[in-house]
Amino acid sequence: MNLFSPGDQIARNPTLAVLGFRRQLMYHLHFWAFVAIAPLILVQWQQEHYLLSALLILFCLNALLVIAFLKFRNSYFLNGRLFPFLAVVAAGYSTVLNGHSGLYWAYPAATALFFLLPLREAIASNIVFISVMAVISFLYLPETEFWRIVVSLGLTCVFAMVFAWLVGKLQQELIWLATTDPLTGCLNRSQLADVLNTQIQMRERYERVSSLILLDLDFFKAINDEWGHQAGDQVLREMATRLRKRLREMDQLFRIGGEEFMIVLPETRQRDADTLAHQLLASISARPFLNNIKLTASASVAEVSHGETWSVWLNRADQALYQAKAHGRNQVVNAHRPVPSVTEPPPDAAAT
Ligand code: GH3
Ligand code: MG
Ligand code: MG
Repeated sequence: MNLFSPGDQIARNPTLAVLGFRRQLMYHLHFWAFVAIAPLILVQWQQEHYLLSALLILFCLNALLVIAFLKFRNSYFLNGRLFPFLAVVAAGYSTVLNGHSGLYWAYPAATALFFLLPLREAIASNIVFISVMAVISFLYLPETEFWRIVVSLGLTCVFAMVFAWLVGKLQQELIWLATTDPLTGCLNRSQLADVLNTQIQMRERYERVSSLILLDLDFFKAINDEWGHQAGDQVLREMATRLRKRLREMDQLFRIGGEEFMIVLPETRQRDADTLAHQLLASISARPFLNNIKLTASASVAEVSHGETWSVWLNRADQALYQAKAHGRNQVVNAHRPVPSVTEPPPDAAAT
């Protein structure tokens, strides 16, 4: 089964790709655990282990519900928490009843914890689980096997923990690499649609208005030609640092082109965004970059309008930036608000 839908959107959105990974893992663990455990309900029932059978029925029901919720509702039933809980309880109880044949289940149960729970929770749960299994094996299994069981179960947990930890770190790293511009540390275009759409939803649902600023360096090609590409790169880095210094924590800074930046300002009206844009341009032109490269920039400001898509919003800002360039650069131009659509009068009414 492919839970990555629609496929190409996942490929372009690293955050969704990581979420997709978690969903696939959740689905496959529950599916294969169901296949393995379901027959054991009958086996345990025939051996008159009714309570264990009931636990296994609960386990299988939970697995089916998780699979169904993932498939039809796109959500996690009880956040996937019941699997690890039932698995460790059933494995422990089965060891009490069945000795070695129950103990074998402790190994997949301990491993599953690392794939289904957040790392810290999985570590804490496994410490409790191994301790309980240690007591059970001490009480119900030959004394000579106590250390063998504790050490082998502990080692299985350490292997699974290291693997889960490394995969988690790798995912963070991949998200960072896919969403961040390596030169300036700004966000890159991959998050653009998501971030703008979030602001549009805030506008539509809660009447919270955001604005965006587009900022493009003036005659940057000439800077490269005169000072070299490496100096140009350093200017871009310093630019990002200067811009970031003036922004609030909630604001998001993107580098959307070679020498073009976009700033998304949540909860900010056009007038305040315009003031900020003027301040940014002033701070760029006031002090030379790398101590002696003088530079100016042009900017446009656009507040999100009711009912518009992110591309229309961005396009309005783009048009305004074009005007700022055409009118002589080193200035801010406010984007036109979209003209509200007027209902056309019927043709005969227009004739009279
Ligand atoms: P305008 O005022 O019309 O914006 O002129 P401009 O020269 O800034 O704009 P243009 O689009 O003609 O050229 C942009 C230049 O930005 C071209 C390219 O050399 C430079 N550039 C783009 N990306 C990078 C980069 O990553 N590093 C460096 N050093 N330069 C870059
Ligand atoms: Mg430019
Ligand atoms: Mg440009």
